[in-house]
Amino acid sequence: MTYDAVVVGGGLSGLSAAVAVSAAGGRVALIEQGPRLGGRCYSYADPVTGDEVDNGQHVLLGSYRHLLKYLDTIGTSGLLRAQPSLQLRFHHPENGFGTFRMQRLPVPLDLASGVLTYRHLSVREKAELLSAGRRLRAWDPALQNTLASMSVSNWLESMGQGQNARDCFWDPISVSVMNETPGLASALLFAKTLRAAFFERGADSRMLIPTVGQTQLYVDRAVEFLTARKSVVRTMTGAERVLVEKGGAPRGSGTLRAGGVGITGGEEIRSGAVIAAVPHWGIPALLPRGAGVDGVIAAVRSLATSPIVSVHLWFDRPFMENELVGVIGRTIQWAFDRRRIIAGGNEERPMVACVISAAREVSSQPTSRIVETAVADLRSVYPRASEAVVTRSVVIKEKRATFSPVTGVEKFRPGAVTEIGGLFLAGDWTETGYPATIEGAVKSGFAAAGHLLAGTKGGSGLSR
Ligand SMILES: Cc1cc2nc3c(=O)[nH]c(=O)nc-3n(C[C@H](O)[C@H](O)[C@H](O)COP(=O)(O)OP(=O)(O)OC[C@H]3O[C@@H](n4cnc5c(N)ncnc54)[C@H](O)[C@@H]3O)c2cc1C
Repeated sequence: MTYDAVVVGGGLSGLSAAVAVSAAGGRVALIEQGPRLGGRCYSYADPVTGDEVDNGQHVLLGSYRHLLKYLDTIGTSGLLRAQPSLQLRFHHPENGFGTFRMQRLPVPLDLASGVLTYRHLSVREKAELLSAGRRLRAWDPALQNTLASMSVSNWLESMGQGQNARDCFWDPISVSVMNETPGLASALLFAKTLRAAFFERGADSRMLIPTVGQTQLYVDRAVEFLTARKSVVRTMTGAERVLVEKGGAPRGSGTLRAGGVGITGGEEIRSGAVIAAVPHWGIPALLPRGAGVDGVIAAVRSLATSPIVSVHLWFDRPFMENELVGVIGRTIQWAFDRRRIIAGGNEERPMVACVISAAREVSSQPTSRIVETAVADLRSVYPRASEAVVTRSVVIKEKRATFSPVTGVEKFRPGAVTEIGGLFLAGDWTETGYPATIEGAVKSGFAAAGHLLAGTKGGSGLSR
């Protein structure tokens, strides 16, 4: 059987590419090497408590337009709850709680309202932050060029952002958005993300909170969508190589084109096009050498990765007063009260999900030590937690959570179209304009599908 497309990789980029091709009438084979779909974004029922556990609590924003389109298509956007406007509660080790709460006002007054009422900043720091916001809003090519060679730290320094503003505002946001330390992270990618969230529509900066586990939100209905349209989804099916052949009439003119993939066990899946939606470290094994994509293979070898550690803690009683809290100046950066987040969350056995991004040091520690640290951090935020007993803990170390979005990384991120006809690339690491995010992954999946459907560069279009 020949498919219109084989999509290799069942993460968000592969799922969105497959859904887009399938929605246009194409017949797709989506293959995933592992036992489950969702890639770096999945959930499972905890075997002891039965609670739904995400591999890491993900934060979504109203600016994630491609993601919202994907969820609308598969029918799960109603499983997100939108904050009325951005509200981030932070706890400072000495000064206690302070909330960055944006009013529902026109852009950029909404951001100004958040800054002006945030009690962890002095009057002077608020003025400096607003001035940084104005510079960011007045985007021009010169600023873009300057940012391209700067780290987040350099950029903040150049705008006179002092240590307290960094500790209480910039660093918590940049570390979680970028999953990299500010001294290494690209100022350009961070600035682009901030602009997309804060300076287009008021609704873009709102946090969108999934009320179900990630697999239910992103995967299950996508599989139903695909199979209802005669596409095929296969797990435990790893692609070993993209099959490349000389293109002949009517599609090619002697140039190379993709004709399917060879999978583990020797089987071949033939197709009019291939979308490689694997993480960047999977690309070198998949693509053929000497076929025009050696530059891509060399580029992805320059991308490094950065870990995220998630600590899931069950307590015998609740103590969090908000659904999430930013923890300033300690090891955990954010804590989420899953009881308030997940529909039907467990009141008697509340679970708190703690996130540590850019977690190089922590990820090499033993899990017992990580749990101790997370519990101590939570108790320093909520004294009531000292009375609460930890009844269960699960630590998930995603050592290759994202590519590392260091300064200058853009030159190593290829676009969707390759020199091999009908071979397209997708993944959060491709040229999306974002750091590694779900939005970037879905945007890249849609871009690859769009080129395939349009017949770009020897792409098949749809054969019927
Ligand atoms: C703990 C954690 C927290 C995060 N938090 C956020 C957040 O708050 N907000 C946000 O926007 N983003 C967040 N991210 C990032 C986001 O999850 C990723 O950017 C996104 O899921 C990447 O999707 P992808 O499709 O590009 O790659 P992946 O999800 O890695 O999917 C690629 C798939 O390809 C499969 N594969 C690889 N090789 C082959 C092969 N040869 N044959 C077949 N299949 C193959 C893999 O098994 C995998 O399933 C987080 C990530 C992690 C890990």
